[in-house]
Amino acid sequence: MPEWSCRCCGRWRVSVELIRGRYRYRLVHRYPAEHGGGANVVGEVASVAELEVLLGRYAPVGLADLCEAA
Ligand SMILES: [Zn+2]
Repeated sequence: MPEWSCRCCGRWRVSVELIRGRYRYRLVHRYPAEHGGGANVVGEVASVAELEVLLGRYAPVGLADLCEAA
């Protein structure tokens, strides 16, 4: 499955998940390792347009700041 992360710190990540038979974009915020690591699922949406809204609401980065993760 494709995954994207922000260029600035890599802590904001978007992955594509198959949930109940439908693909969804999942926005995840990873905690720094010094805070114990782990991640918080910010939300799951069905379209890129909704993803943009989700990013605008919760993240300091936008779609243009994301690049495909290795
Ligand atoms: Zn970042």
